[in-house]
Amino acid sequence: MKYISTRGDKTERRFCEILLEGLAPDGGLYLPVQYPKVDDATLTKWRGLAYADLAFEILSLYMDDIPAEDLRAITQRTYTEAVFGTPQITPLKTLEPGLALQALSNGPTLAFKDMAMQLLGQLFEYELGRRGETLNILGATSGDTGSAAEYAMRGKAGVNVFMLSPHGRMSPFQQAQMFSLQEANIHNIAVEGVFDDCQDIVKAVSNDLDFKRKYKIGTVNSINWARLLAQVVYYFAGYFQATTGNEQKVSFTVPSGNFGNVCAGHVARMMGLPIAQLVVATNENDVLDEFFRTGVYRPRGTADTHETSSPSMDISKASNFERFVFDLLGRDGSRVKALFGAGGFELNAQEQALIADFGFVSGSSTHAHRLATIRLCHQQYGQLIDTHTADGLKVALEHRQPGITMLVLETALPAKFAATIREALDIEPPRPAGLENIEALPKRVTVMPVDTKAVKAFIQAHV
Ligand SMILES: *Cc1c(COP(=O)(O)O)cnc(C)c1O
Repeated sequence: MKYISTRGDKTERRFCEILLEGLAPDGGLYLPVQYPKVDDATLTKWRGLAYADLAFEILSLYMDDIPAEDLRAITQRTYTEAVFGTPQITPLKTLEPGLALQALSNGPTLAFKDMAMQLLGQLFEYELGRRGETLNILGATSGDTGSAAEYAMRGKAGVNVFMLSPHGRMSPFQQAQMFSLQEANIHNIAVEGVFDDCQDIVKAVSNDLDFKRKYKIGTVNSINWARLLAQVVYYFAGYFQATTGNEQKVSFTVPSGNFGNVCAGHVARMMGLPIAQLVVATNENDVLDEFFRTGVYRPRGTADTHETSSPSMDISKASNFERFVFDLLGRDGSRVKALFGAGGFELNAQEQALIADFGFVSGSSTHAHRLATIRLCHQQYGQLIDTHTADGLKVALEHRQPGITMLVLETALPAKFAATIREALDIEPPRPAGLENIEALPKRVTVMPVDTKAVKAFIQAHV
């Protein structure tokens, strides 16, 4: 399997060449030259597989420059009951016939990013070991991504993590999750500023190309192709749990921010998984909902990005969205380059009509909807859901079709967003075993001013 850029550069690269990369050199995103097609016989063969074996089968179609026995060992190490809580890894929780949640948030940080990041940790350690190299991951987080990266990379050979977060602005639970890690390769830096200050420092360090090369600075952001691939697996796993034969179709509703999760659903559908609809659910930051309803893509500035009670979906532009547009427009790289180079764009009527062929529909949700849906789910189905999953369920209920099971991807556990659960139901969401007193654990964190030089000096002193 070879990979090309969405912006027209036809240079073909192998998986291991792009594994540690972010953007392609022309500024585009990597996609496979074509999607491998999965036929009926293959679906039948895969139907009975355990999650780790299914992951091996799917990933080996894309990662064919990793020897099969090595890749099998990697998937076996990654997707275990010990890490993800159940033998199914992403079990369904039925709400009523034809409607279920697919639990993606039973990993170490209680959010779906663990599904991909845990694999990435294993792949990075493997590939860096093979090359005899090291990598220093530098990132900024306001919560979920940073903790998922740290839990994936903790103790991994050849990898250090330097994670910037806004001092005093994450929830006590989120701070405890990250700062309680005691591994020597994990470095928490609390910056005396806001999230944008953290991100600016990461950009400034990465733009210093000499520093970047000398100190082997890398990232694990959501455009990484391996992260997206890891997410393709659970669409197959959800489909097999929800159906008894390959003639049946299933729809997925996906709480969306950077379009990484639902883009994996698009890849699964392109491979031939019988998906009827991919329902994109946004919160008040509805740039994607607007696009799917009107064909207008209008990324917002930071100032127009709302702070909501489903904060992991508070984005102004969706970094993975370009991958879908590349496929939508017949893989015309020069057109994609022109559209994304211009910032926003509007599809013509013909192009807009194609959206339905790809199965996409959308909807959005507000704080009031979120509260109402958390209550409805609790009262009607006896299930406590988090704020992001509530956005998904709200939109899913607007898009059900007769005879087609709707799966709503559960992207976080309610324990992570306790304040909104209290507001909706006046109850305290339960914490998974072992996390009851996490706030009391000793913390490893260095507080720093908003100062790129200080962060560089810290990295120099700790690699
Ligand atoms: C990251 C995240 C999302 C959004 O996923 P994208 O891949 O960015 O669309 C939704 N819910 C939760 C809980 C998240 O952490």
